[in-house]
Amino acid sequence: MARNPQVIVAGAGPVGLLTALALAKQDVSVLVLETEPGLTVDLRAGTYHPPSLEMMAPYGITADMLKTAIKVPRWQIRDRKEGVIVDWDVSLIKDLTPFPYRLHLEQHRLTPIIYAKLGECPNAEVRFSHEVTDFVQGAGIVTVTAQTPAGIEKFEAQWLVGADGGRSTVRKVMGVGFEGYTWPERFLVASTHYDYEPHGFRLNTYVADPVDWNAMFKMPGDGPPGLWRILFPVAPEEDEAAALSEENIERLMQGFQPKAGRYAIQYKSIYKVHQRVASDFRVGRALLAGDAAHLNNPIGAFGLNGGIHDAINLAGKLGKVCRGESDDRLLDLYVRQRRTVNLEYVQEFSIKNLRRLTARTAEERRRSFDELRQAASTVEGARNFLLVSSMIASVQRAEAIT
Ligand SMILES: Cc1cc2nc3c(=O)[nH]c(=O)nc-3n(C[C@H](O)[C@H](O)[C@H](O)COP(=O)(O)OP(=O)(O)OC[C@H]3O[C@@H](n4cnc5c(N)ncnc54)[C@H](O)[C@@H]3O)c2cc1C
Repeated sequence: MARNPQVIVAGAGPVGLLTALALAKQDVSVLVLETEPGLTVDLRAGTYHPPSLEMMAPYGITADMLKTAIKVPRWQIRDRKEGVIVDWDVSLIKDLTPFPYRLHLEQHRLTPIIYAKLGECPNAEVRFSHEVTDFVQGAGIVTVTAQTPAGIEKFEAQWLVGADGGRSTVRKVMGVGFEGYTWPERFLVASTHYDYEPHGFRLNTYVADPVDWNAMFKMPGDGPPGLWRILFPVAPEEDEAAALSEENIERLMQGFQPKAGRYAIQYKSIYKVHQRVASDFRVGRALLAGDAAHLNNPIGAFGLNGGIHDAINLAGKLGKVCRGESDDRLLDLYVRQRRTVNLEYVQEFSIKNLRRLTARTAEERRRSFDELRQAASTVEGARNFLLVSSMIASVQRAEAIT
């Protein structure tokens, strides 16, 4: 791999790796610089929507995911007291996608799949323990500074993609704003082998309640019987260590689904949730994708999926620019398409989804549940709901922007 690739990607998360792979497959040389000494393995996203699976399929990623992932053809919205409000059947849109389901696979099982495919590309390289700290733009060139095990090093490329996550250094050096807000509640995730399916829960279920709302996802874990991830809100004033204590998690789990004996907890973590979109995704030769460009709450699983859609959209256009088939105005189209749908769909509906779960008054809950039941009562209404919740509508909207 040359020291002067055509594109440098900051960040070997799923979005950076996928961008790099999609570029390398177009004969564009690419260097990925990653701060950490290896791929990260912490608990993060894990639900994939049909368009993401379609976009990753040509690279063989989706086929590899399907070997261990869990298909979720039906998912639920419930109320803690009323029970099931709507049971959505994704197969209602099977005429629109070859993957008419949500697919569950931990993010840290996706990244090794993409990384292995990237390893087969002679024109791609990933360097771990290389933290991008700065960059400057010149005529036709970006010079990237990185902190490496050998000290400060400089790398040159024609283009820089910042896929370096929510705290993106690339975004900060670009000088673009990151407008939005942080939710006052934090989210606590606990995983257990306990099986909730016999209690009537779908493998992906959202449970509304003014105080004790939840989201649940069955993940493959290390194999059968799989691992259920239950998400709980943590009040702003609550101490983090107290929230994560064994006693508190046992109390939350028993409060959600009482059972004999204590819950065995495999993983637990707590994190802050934001709604933010960068004021621009491009400054000259530097571009943003994934969490570096936008953040949202996880209700609806739009974050990583939106990042995957960024990666494929951006790599397609950047590949054409690198090969001289298009001028760089094509990259402004990437920004118009992806930034617009992030605002119109990802932000709009992730906020709506969370508000629906947490609606405080009986009147608000009634209105929200009536709206859902109304949508589910006809095939057309259900299909329209599924088009948005499966992100097909956002991809169609992006394609319509010229
Ligand atoms: C703690 C946490 C929990 C989450 N939980 C959920 C969830 O339950 N459900 C859900 O749908 N989504 C969740 N998300 C969101 C989801 O994981 C992200 O949308 C997804 O990780 C975005 O991928 P990415 O590649 O854009 O960014 P990331 O996965 O954050 O990858 C960015 C990469 O860049 C590297 N990096 C950072 N700075 C630099 C630098 N200066 N130089 C080089 N490399 C750098 C990082 O080490 C990292 O490997 C969670 C996110 C976090 C942070």
